[in-house]
Amino acid sequence: MKSTVCCNVALHQNLIDGAWIGNRFLPNINPSDLSETVGEFASATEDETQAAITAARAAFPAWSRSGILERSRLLRDTSQEILRRKDEIGALLSREEGKTMAEGIGETVRAAQIFEFFSGEALRLGGEVLPSVRPGVEVQVTREPLGVIGIITPWNFPIAIPAWKIAPALCYGNTVVVKPAEVAPACTWMLAEILHRNGLPRGVLNLVMGKGSVVGQAMLEHREVDGITFTGSVSTGRRVAEACARHMRRSQIEMGGKNPLIVLDDADLGVAVDVALNGSFFSTGQRCTASSRLIVTDAIHDRFVAALAEQMTSLRVGHAMEATTQIGPVVDEGQLKQDLDYISLGQTEGARLVAGGALVTRQTEGHFLTPALFTDCTPTMRIMREEIFGPVAGVIRVNDYDEALAVANGTEFGLSAGICTTSLKHASHFRRNAEAGMVMVNLPTAGVDFHVPFGGRKGSSFGPREQGRYAVEFFTTVKTSYSSSF
Ligand code: NAD
Repeated sequence: MKSTVCCNVALHQNLIDGAWIGNRFLPNINPSDLSETVGEFASATEDETQAAITAARAAFPAWSRSGILERSRLLRDTSQEILRRKDEIGALLSREEGKTMAEGIGETVRAAQIFEFFSGEALRLGGEVLPSVRPGVEVQVTREPLGVIGIITPWNFPIAIPAWKIAPALCYGNTVVVKPAEVAPACTWMLAEILHRNGLPRGVLNLVMGKGSVVGQAMLEHREVDGITFTGSVSTGRRVAEACARHMRRSQIEMGGKNPLIVLDDADLGVAVDVALNGSFFSTGQRCTASSRLIVTDAIHDRFVAALAEQMTSLRVGHAMEATTQIGPVVDEGQLKQDLDYISLGQTEGARLVAGGALVTRQTEGHFLTPALFTDCTPTMRIMREEIFGPVAGVIRVNDYDEALAVANGTEFGLSAGICTTSLKHASHFRRNAEAGMVMVNLPTAGVDFHVPFGGRKGSSFGPREQGRYAVEFFTTVKTSYSSSF
């Protein structure tokens, strides 16, 4: 059994050493309709996690030496199947995470593109041949797979993030143990099922769903894991980094953000409002790259706030699968409580709630919250320093570009940073001086390409970049070999 139906609910097992295993399950609830269980997903034990790691280790020698054409074809076939089934998988994503259908399908297409990209990369593996400083000696620099990769993912991009970690891991010849977030495991299960059915040899990719404190922790402590790639919160990320350092193991850690969007007096008002609306609130604000700090100069401030608040009132919040919905529900009760607590804290701190922030009822019972906008924020307020991870943004009024830049950089995070301006001078200065891994000019802070590096600085990220050709840095290790020509 890999997926079976019991009491009208589909049961989904873990994939360990090519077999579907597990008899303890956790429910996956639709945040748009709490009466709907999307499915029951296996909750792995520590022993099962260890079995998955052992299987990945056993499969490594053969997979690391497998032909590049085999790997490339497998990744290409996976990409094509995801693309063929984008509506079905996109709908599953919307049901488990609450993104609108358009966002769910868009993210599914993104996953397909990532597999396609790494299908090509498998054929582009290369090295260098260099002359030695010693006569008669040749030097080769090559890359080899790292080994067994532990993949730990969050709930907010339930197919794109697993895809952008699994595809390069397999492309470069690594074997995998993947653990999705317990809130939204269905899309990763779907990916594992597709890869398995498309002919991935047993043990090369193992899926262990379940609790972070059990499965994730067991992955952190196991000696046979050669590298961990993690995306999630700062607190878990720190724990992962510490465990990896203890074991002298490579880590790639992507965490939270408190991303600034600067709006200067010379900005095109329509562009700035669109950019802020999208960056702050789309995907229910549940993006690590969301613009939660809107830093606006004096002369445009009032017009910008009025226009943004006006646009916000027409955003349709509702069931993720309804065609007219623009903002889906908050993912679960815990996240909703966090959002509401911060909205109330903002008011206590002296910020002014000028739009949204209210629970709304719809035909189904779900976690529906209208996007919230605060004004009169100061950089020291907790709502302007801590990641909320919901549809909540605050406006900080500043005098000029220099002050805006100082406020933008005055954070422990450094993931994405944006500016809306028609001044080439300020745009260029900002690109050079924003302390962030990704910089956007007249574009939302969220929304990135799949073929270029992704990642941040400071407290947002640790280790080599993800995605694009830069993924090779984490997923391979370099070998330098010398040979004498006699
Ligand atoms: P989280 O840290 O709660 O969980 C992430 C993963 O870690 C889950 O799979 C969880 O089960 C696992 N985990 C929990 N405890 C663990 C432990 N002790 N050992 C090992 N694994 C453990 O994060 P979340 O709530 O799922 O995701 C939201 C966070 O992710 C936000 O902070 C957001 O900014 C961040 N995020 C960052 C990026 C990025 O690329 N920078 C992208 C998306 C999300």
